[in-house]
Amino acid sequence: MTKSTKANINPTIMWFRYDLRIADNPAFNAAINHAAQEKTNPLIALFVLDETTAFPPGGASKWWLHHALSDLHQNLKKRGVQLILKQAQSSDNVHDMICDICEDLKVKAIFWNRRYAKDEINRDTHIKTSLEQKDIEVNSFNGSLLREPWEVKTGSGTHYKVFTPFWRTIKSMGLSRSLIPAPKAINAFSGPVKSDNLSSLKLLPQNPDWAKSFKKIWHPTEKHAHKALGQFLDGAVNNYDDDRNRPDKIGTSRLSPYLAWGQISPLQIWETTKMAIAAGNVNEGQADKFLSEIAWREFSYHLLYFYPELPSKPLRGYFEKFPWQVNPRHLKAWQTGQTGFPIVDAGMRELWQTGWMHNRVRMIVASFLIKDLLIDWREGEKWFWDTLVDGDIASNAASWQWVAGCGADASPYFRIFNPMTQGEKFDPNADYVRKYVPEISKLPNKFIQRPWEASETLLAEAKITLGETYPKPIVDHKQARILALDAYKAIKD
Ligand SMILES: Cc1cc2nc3c(=O)[nH]c(=O)nc-3n(C[C@H](O)[C@H](O)[C@H](O)COP(=O)(O)OP(=O)(O)OC[C@H]3O[C@@H](n4cnc5c(N)ncnc54)[C@H](O)[C@@H]3O)c2cc1C
Repeated sequence: MTKSTKANINPTIMWFRYDLRIADNPAFNAAINHAAQEKTNPLIALFVLDETTAFPPGGASKWWLHHALSDLHQNLKKRGVQLILKQAQSSDNVHDMICDICEDLKVKAIFWNRRYAKDEINRDTHIKTSLEQKDIEVNSFNGSLLREPWEVKTGSGTHYKVFTPFWRTIKSMGLSRSLIPAPKAINAFSGPVKSDNLSSLKLLPQNPDWAKSFKKIWHPTEKHAHKALGQFLDGAVNNYDDDRNRPDKIGTSRLSPYLAWGQISPLQIWETTKMAIAAGNVNEGQADKFLSEIAWREFSYHLLYFYPELPSKPLRGYFEKFPWQVNPRHLKAWQTGQTGFPIVDAGMRELWQTGWMHNRVRMIVASFLIKDLLIDWREGEKWFWDTLVDGDIASNAASWQWVAGCGADASPYFRIFNPMTQGEKFDPNADYVRKYVPEISKLPNKFIQRPWEASETLLAEAKITLGETYPKPIVDHKQARILALDAYKAIKD
């Protein structure tokens, strides 16, 4: 027993999960207020690396998490709050761990922000029941959505399956609460606590350190999330509707990893953008389009909540019968950016080198995997989950189902992207392809999205030997398209 527990101290716990920020954090704010009421309920923070869920963080996400935790630790330390770090690996560990920590420290109240995946809900419910049986107060909040999934209802009181009316409704509902500023004075627990070291969580890759290049691109701090939002609202937002489709430009906010780990809240983005509109600092129509993308994230969580199998099962049941091909050679070529289709390869290499990929290119590479290679969308979902710094259970699953045509409000299956024309349209000067596929950079624009159509002379001038310095296309797109449409027709019939 520690000194402080002897002196009848009953600490208050804030359990951080995918909400690694100190400002606009409803659970953290409520925990601070609870701790402020009684000197004997000082605040302590907790983070458990939970690898027991069906979707534990992927490799690139863990890189982000390491830095986000380091930042959170610093921000809490400045306010005198200790952060306990723990790691859970087997199925019941998180439950037992939380119960043990509460018992050891004589905790009387715990606070967290809600999660929405099926096994996270089950885990939290199980913990809540056990803690309440021990007379420990459990308080949960909405810390990562504009609205809880169950608050957004159709006229007939059901959930939405189509985005546009969902977007209209969420817009008309207004905000559920006001923004919460970063806390100043906190009644913090000062007694000794047992915590793992951040380095012992082994979140960073070693041998090889494949994330070396991430450091030059990303700054995974709460402060930087707001800097990125500010920069976006100062410039790119005003051309968002056009430039959001251009992977060769910085036309989007790149806020997704900050949102995924909760270093910025959608409410903060919403309010800051609305204030910029009201002040006349940004184009209203363009900013509204940006907010509608924030609403796509909300819609994904709405779907995840009402279709708990979203990450693993097609929402349209007949897709279970789809004749997916098992082709490790094709899958590997896709993963490593060696398909012979320059825009696809550029996207997959951007993903590997930066942990992020432009949304338009995500759609192109996903369509290619599913419809040109006939590989199950769940393989793509898995790869993205492991390699994206913004891996988000709801957005990833909903987006893969959307491209596959088996989700809610999905793109129709027969919409099969032509990778060459997509490249020519959205990367018109081929700057994006040249950046990530330098071995074909000397080809003229006319052929760079379709090198196999270039003459022998042109290829020789550009120092390209197809099949050696750059792959020949691994499928014939025209033929693949026909096969995909036949397969789809077969399951539909
Ligand atoms: C196959 C596929 C898989 C995807 N997987 C993920 C994922 O794991 N995590 C993830 O955050 N996004 C995912 N997306 C959605 C989208 O590509 C990214 O959110 C976006 O590219 C992030 O860049 P940004 O922050 O600059 O976006 P912006 O255009 O600046 O948009 C702002 C925010 O809105 C949200 N958003 C934008 N587009 C979408 C969308 N289509 N669906 C849901 N939310 C959206 C994101 O939170 C984003 O940060 C996926 C899309 C596809 C096609």
